[in-house]
Amino acid sequence: MAMEYKKLLADVEDAVANCMKCGNCQEVCPIYKEVRIEPAVARGKIALMEAVLNGGLDITAGFDKKMALCVSCKACTAKCPCGVKADELIIRGRQAAVAVRGLHPVKKAVFSLLKNRGLFDFSLRLAGMFGPLTFKKLPGRLAQISRFPMPGLDRKRITAPFAATPLRGQYPETVKAAQSKLRVGFFTGCTINYIYTDIGQSVINVLKANDIDVVLPKLQHCCGTPVYVNGDVELAKIFAKHNIETFENYKLDYIVAACGSCTEAWKTEYPGLFLDDPAMKQRADALAAKTYEISQFLVDIAKFRRDGLGEVKVSVTMHDPCHMARGIKVTSQPRELLKAIPGVEFIEMKDPSRCCGAGGSFSLAHYDLARQINDRKIADIASTGASIVATGCGLCRMHITDGLIQNDKPQEVLHTIQLLDKAYQARNK
Ligand code: SF4
Ligand code: SF4
Repeated sequence: MAMEYKKLLADVEDAVANCMKCGNCQEVCPIYKEVRIEPAVARGKIALMEAVLNGGLDITAGFDKKMALCVSCKACTAKCPCGVKADELIIRGRQAAVAVRGLHPVKKAVFSLLKNRGLFDFSLRLAGMFGPLTFKKLPGRLAQISRFPMPGLDRKRITAPFAATPLRGQYPETVKAAQSKLRVGFFTGCTINYIYTDIGQSVINVLKANDIDVVLPKLQHCCGTPVYVNGDVELAKIFAKHNIETFENYKLDYIVAACGSCTEAWKTEYPGLFLDDPAMKQRADALAAKTYEISQFLVDIAKFRRDGLGEVKVSVTMHDPCHMARGIKVTSQPRELLKAIPGVEFIEMKDPSRCCGAGGSFSLAHYDLARQINDRKIADIASTGASIVATGCGLCRMHITDGLIQNDKPQEVLHTIQLLDKAYQARNK
């Protein structure tokens, strides 16, 4: 085991050494902004990894805890003058910690449920059926709060209800457009399949309105990002292989996802996971080349129909999810969709790509800190005076909705594609 983690870190020794400790990453790190301690920032974490490599430090519980203090927002990597991919190094540090210490028992339990696709699906369907017994729905928005204490969920936390029927259960496997010009596979991801089915419905409506057939492969599973960023790379490989094999079974022109993290998993993570397996890497590369985030696909590839858009009279600001802005670098396309909708008044907020604090499972383990980070985002949203916040990620939608309600703000958070869907529907009325 010791050898295994030494090898994991030795592989990135040069990358670690490239950090010149300038501290530029401090300025942009959302965690450092709140806690002001060196191990919170990329520089501090890289120094800890260096100490392990030099033999001056063991991988202890403290090391593990410090590596966990990161929302994987990639702001440090984007800011680094030396090109250090700090967010990836931090994941490698987590991977080394998992190799030495194993996964945290709660994560272990969650990931073993996730590993069993059938059981995971069954559990979330049950959660959809019995959710109202355990959660109280909040008026006006797709939001709920727990009725009693639950393990792993902060008592104050506002979430969104699981769908009574998951998205993929609401449609046949192939949804045909009236006149089809393309055939696209929709990778729904877990959040859209089990929680925000309204986003998935809009993706399907919009693709159909653009004469595109939509295929929803029934056997698709979690993209693997939650396990990958938590250092369980072997499980991430299992998910990647499963999804690649599943989508290869269909004749598809393109694959789309309505989430920056899912898209990044297909485009970057999957090919990167199989560097030691050339045949698998080639298959991952082939699918990565035809995978797009939905707004990117509609603007750059499908050239979405502008003539069929009716009026949607709302003021909208936009939050760019970290994995869209700095992961797949898609920020102009969702704006282009919004600006094409008659009646939309678009108001840019300050620093729209600043992390909202959700950070995948980060906000589960560090809810109060995630709230502090989120409060800054809520203040930026409020200062625009817009009535709608558009975004491109279900988890951002949930965490920002939580923040808006906690801060007594009236805005609603929607995925950009939902506004485009409204515009096509408005024309048909
Ligand atoms: S990670 Fe980059 S920005 Fe941060 S201290 Fe190192 S060199 Fe500077
Ligand atoms: S990825 Fe984000 S949260 Fe993590 S160290 Fe870098 S800037 Fe800080």
